[in-house]
Amino acid sequence: MTQNMGDTLPDYLPLSFLNQLSYCPRRFWLMYAQSEIEINAPMLEGTIRHQRAHDPGSQRLDDQGRALRSVHVWSDVLRVAGIADFVEITGTQTELHLLPVEHKHGRMGKWLNDHIQLCAQAMCLEERTGIAVPVGEIFYWSNRRREQVTFDDALRQRTQDAIQYAFALLAMGQTPAPIEHKAKCRDCSMEPICLPDETLALLRDEAVEGN
Ligand code: SF4
Repeated sequence: MTQNMGDTLPDYLPLSFLNQLSYCPRRFWLMYAQSEIEINAPMLEGTIRHQRAHDPGSQRLDDQGRALRSVHVWSDVLRVAGIADFVEITGTQTELHLLPVEHKHGRMGKWLNDHIQLCAQAMCLEERTGIAVPVGEIFYWSNRRREQVTFDDALRQRTQDAIQYAFALLAMGQTPAPIEHKAKCRDCSMEPICLPDETLALLRDEAVEGN
């Protein structure tokens, strides 16, 4: 399916959609370009938990440091923008340390999409503040675990590549084919709209007919 988005390309890509793209380009397309968000139970639960994380009562202040919540971040260089769930601030006035913490409703994943979203947040924070952000953390509600993520060169490069790919996909205006990945498709809320098996079978038939 082709959809001309050349005139409506966004100036800034929402950080959360960068997560979708890194999971599956077709998922990104369906959710972003066609606004077909299929809400399933885990997504709904995640949304509610996200709202709680953003609730004013959840802000934490302590003697050692501060945690700012719902921090608007953006990068003019990367052309991404969004909200960091929490940014923990420690250190002194002359040497501040920033730690972005993202809340996720699921379990610790096997894929890098959450890492890429968090890395983009960190790069936004660095651009806005001039302070190096070497690590961040992801809190997974399902198993109540925090995972530390190091923003090394490889992850930063993957993040930049994902952003470029997202803009290229939008400029191309064509729905990507389903990925052939049973595990990801099984956990994907877009599966009923995407119909990966049926679509792939159709594409294979078309390829055979075209030969
Ligand atoms: S069902 Fe699979 S191919 Fe379709 S959007 Fe989800 S992950 Fe991508």
